[in-house]
Amino acid sequence: MREIVPPPPPIIHNQFAEVRELFNRYVVPSYGRFELVFSHGAGHHVWDVAGKRYLDLGGGIAVCALGHANPEITETLIEQSRRLVHVSNLYYHEPQGRLAQRLVGHLAPGKVFFCNSGAEANEGLYKLARKFGHDEGRYEVLTAINSFHGRTLAGIAATGQDKVKKGFEPAVAGFRHIPFNDLEAARAAISPATAAILIEGIQGEGGITPASAEYLLGLRKLCDERRILLLIDAVQCGHFRSGRFQSFQRVLEGIPGAESFLPDGVSMAKSLGGGFPMGAFWVREESMGVKLCDLLGAGSHGTTFGGTPLGCAVALKVLDVIERDRLADNVRTTGDFLKTSLAGLAQRYPGVVKGDRGLGFMLGFELQDRERIPGFAASDKPASLQMVNRLHEAGVLTIPSGNQIVRLLPALSLPRSLAEEGLAVIEQVVKSVA
Ligand SMILES: *Cc1c(COP(=O)(O)O)cnc(C)c1O
Repeated sequence: MREIVPPPPPIIHNQFAEVRELFNRYVVPSYGRFELVFSHGAGHHVWDVAGKRYLDLGGGIAVCALGHANPEITETLIEQSRRLVHVSNLYYHEPQGRLAQRLVGHLAPGKVFFCNSGAEANEGLYKLARKFGHDEGRYEVLTAINSFHGRTLAGIAATGQDKVKKGFEPAVAGFRHIPFNDLEAARAAISPATAAILIEGIQGEGGITPASAEYLLGLRKLCDERRILLLIDAVQCGHFRSGRFQSFQRVLEGIPGAESFLPDGVSMAKSLGGGFPMGAFWVREESMGVKLCDLLGAGSHGTTFGGTPLGCAVALKVLDVIERDRLADNVRTTGDFLKTSLAGLAQRYPGVVKGDRGLGFMLGFELQDRERIPGFAASDKPASLQMVNRLHEAGVLTIPSGNQIVRLLPALSLPRSLAEEGLAVIEQVVKSVA
């Protein structure tokens, strides 16, 4: 695999306090941010304004599929922006058509709608579900407890976590939550108003939990029986993060009867543009006798920036590189190595690490309760946050998920050597708090 690590530009001076003050005064404080100010990146590393280097195992929350400042992405941005950046969806252009063709090729016959974020991709799926059920008075979408589907009003209604809903009532109507990986609960929850079931292929923000093969197959059968759409939020778990284009393809590998499994809609974003903001949803050509892919007809849905020539050219390049460099294979082998190593960590330090989670490059390790970890007991901050902070001090970026899980969502190109380097740092930090 080709290493893409050009030398970083020189550091001029430490602007930490100045940048921090700009945020204090001028940026809406809706995020809990870490006390880090970054200036540049290259490959799998980013540098803060004091010149300290960090190994990025968070990938900007599963976004930077090809790492930082990838020269091929930079080249594509420059080349396409010289030609055509935006024309609006009043017109046709080649990159959007080509990208849709490629995504359909990786999934199955159907069509693609382009937007700008994960929440917006899911919005499209809710509208698809409502349109599908409209003539029968069906509109309800069932989603999972602990799911995450985005921060728009419908997104927080769909999300199965109270913390995102609080203070923004009344909730958008038409969403109910069911326990994840529990087929009987799904069956019992279906009402005459239910039009769709939406789940994440691997729950991300909820703590890295893959949907089981039995659950996926059971949901498909249930949805067919009850004429309900099966929708998958692949915003985080998609785009080869599992080692296959879609996580359900990986989970169902080798399972008898699973070859024909297909959801009715799939939302995408995060890694799709490799850092360029992009979202999309794929909708299946036909399902339950309905031509689903043409359900959202002219005038029914849209967005100004969706699928610009620039965004699509970049996403096409991201796909080119993933395919040419066989990054899905890298995700499988290096991901398996990381997962096995995290399991080993749990064995060696059971007082700190409870176990490993996930698959491919959507991994996590679960920590013990804060009070039980000697190095964390003194602070009342969640164990996940304390661990991520210690890892920052040690020069590695990871991402907390809930109070007890630390996520690894590295670039799909992360080589084994850097995975080993990151693991060594994680082990050293785990040891220091044990
Ligand atoms: C990040 C995420 C979203 C929201 O995507 P945005 O681009 O932040 O709107 C939705 N669903 C899942 C599973 C996600 O991980």
